[in-house]
Amino acid sequence: MRLTRRVSCLAPSLTLALSAKAKAMQAEGRDVLALGVGEPDFDTPDFIKDRAIADLRAGKTKYTAARGTPEIIKAILGILSRDYGLKYEASEVMLSTGGKHVLYNAFMALVEEGDEVIVPSPFWLSYPEQIKCAGGVPVVVRCSPESGFKMSAEQLRTAITPRTVAVIVNSPSNPTGATYTRDELLALGKVLLEFPNITLISDDLYQYLLYDGAEFFSLPKEMPELRARTLIVNGLSKAWAMTGWRLGWCAGPKDLLAAMDNLQSHSTSNVTTFCQGAAAVALDSDRAFLKDWLAQFARRRRLVIDGLRSIPGVSLPCEPGGAFYAFPDVSAYYGKSWNGKKLTGSLEFAGAALEGAGLAVIPGAVFGEDKCLRISYATSMEILEDAIGRLRKFCAELK
Ligand code: PLP
Repeated sequence: MRLTRRVSCLAPSLTLALSAKAKAMQAEGRDVLALGVGEPDFDTPDFIKDRAIADLRAGKTKYTAARGTPEIIKAILGILSRDYGLKYEASEVMLSTGGKHVLYNAFMALVEEGDEVIVPSPFWLSYPEQIKCAGGVPVVVRCSPESGFKMSAEQLRTAITPRTVAVIVNSPSNPTGATYTRDELLALGKVLLEFPNITLISDDLYQYLLYDGAEFFSLPKEMPELRARTLIVNGLSKAWAMTGWRLGWCAGPKDLLAAMDNLQSHSTSNVTTFCQGAAAVALDSDRAFLKDWLAQFARRRRLVIDGLRSIPGVSLPCEPGGAFYAFPDVSAYYGKSWNGKKLTGSLEFAGAALEGAGLAVIPGAVFGEDKCLRISYATSMEILEDAIGRLRKFCAELK
């Protein structure tokens, strides 16, 4: 069958193949520790579920405005005011089916054939694929382990060309957990001030998951001149443990939001109606539940950081300030063999770790950094302790 360029140019998900294999091994009764997941292991708080159940029973099962009910729009405006210190209007915000959907709408609205979007690497793996799908060219800026995986102002300036239409900043980052300081963001912002036609896409999905005093900074707040061309991308998946609900929101310039609204109205329409009230109570809440979750994440993070650093040959270039990932560099082991097979990169390393140690981790290659692996610590201390032990043994056995 003839398929379009749009879908044919998409990279197959290498992570899917590995996770399918991990699941198959678990189904066979083999002992596999899943450290690949990109979602909290906590359940959605009951007060949020209760609202969805009540709305479903009350018959809130019909279409709403594509961008969301007045209640959710008010809740988005509220969180922008409280947590960003920014005042937006109803026409400047919208609810979509996850942060992923927000980004998809945005690239479709901003990117013409051949336009370039700057993507600092390591990157969340859907950015380049969505950009390509929109006809654009992802311009990957490699942020080295030595820089803590953060893009410098110089790197940004060098990557900009007359075709650049947007740049993505994701802090805290998936997959590295890197968090930009205020000064680092301001340096990027200063470069952007010289290029008024570039849109800043600020992916803030992990805004609330911060450790060891790391702070969240938002460029449109720190540099109000950028606000008129910034799209804030956010959502409820991570900090409210609502990945499966598919709830994302954004704030940005009216004309961009109008285009995204128009596109959404012709594609998915509104987010599931009985999830919208739940999203509103979630956004309006004081997030008291998060205190305990963050304390648990912090303990796990410490165990993983210290554990990884204690394995000979494994380094952790970026002490993750946020999210729930660690991104260790295991490249010292490339060139060694497992079971007669040479480990030439992260894909082979992750494949062998799965087969040989029952460890399911994500190869860094899928995030644009082949030296590393992504380990999610959104799982129990027992599993993490076991995993570090297995990784240590696996590394020691490589020849
Ligand atoms: N942005 C980043 C950096 C992510 O890690 C994810 C999900 O893993 C998303 C966006 C999209 O999340 P969702 O569509 O669940 O809101």
